[in-house]
Amino acid sequence: MDQAGAAGAERFEAERAKMVIEQIEARGIRDARVLEAMRRVPRHELVPAELRERAYQDRALPIGHDQTISQPYIVAVMSEALALRPGDRVLEVGTGSGYQAAVLAELCSEVYTIEIVPELAARARTDLTRLGYQNVRVRQGDGYRGWPEYAPFDAVLVAAAPDHVPEALVEQLALGGRLVIPVGGPAQELVLLTRTEEGVERQTLMPVLFVPMRGEAEVDAGDRP
Ligand code: SAH
Repeated sequence: MDQAGAAGAERFEAERAKMVIEQIEARGIRDARVLEAMRRVPRHELVPAELRERAYQDRALPIGHDQTISQPYIVAVMSEALALRPGDRVLEVGTGSGYQAAVLAELCSEVYTIEIVPELAARARTDLTRLGYQNVRVRQGDGYRGWPEYAPFDAVLVAAAPDHVPEALVEQLALGGRLVIPVGGPAQELVLLTRTEEGVERQTLMPVLFVPMRGEAEVDAGDRP
């Protein structure tokens, strides 16, 4: 890295440390591993070049194709809710920029992530490789039916909102596994499902605003619990 590049990286690192203190810790996220992961992942490397200066702001940002990179705080909430252990294998639906996938990659051993927009899938794959994330596999396609070849997963994170919880994603959870997903539309709730011996426990976390899940979720939409 040249001198200007090194100074830039240092400045972004300082902005990132500030982001974690002011946006994440101040709002009650306590999981030390999640905080450390968010201090490490270079969010400015995963947003469009013209938005780099705004990468650490307290908001979602556009990444093209009508999609967004999630607000840092929401990424932290979802990551904490999954209570990941270092050996876990995680499925993500909605790769987008690859930022959430990178945070997950810092927290567990394998990340499988699916993105429906071909250009975004290709870009995330390139960016995650460039940043050295060797434990993330990106697939282009509809994540509604999960990724059965690699199931079961210890955790599943969904970053686009369907109006019902896709059954396949629950089925691909290991026993004790956790699924965090925004459900509903236009107003959505972030829901945490835990697979237990007895069945599935459901907990509502907070109101959220995600882009709608596209593909089969729309065809299969309807009045469901
Ligand atoms: N986790 C992302 C957030 C991306 S926003 C990040 O950190 O940047 C949600 C993403 O879900 C969008 O990129 C959208 O194209 C994608 N998406 C929507 N429906 C999908 C589906 N059925 N399968 C896979 N990806 C989907």
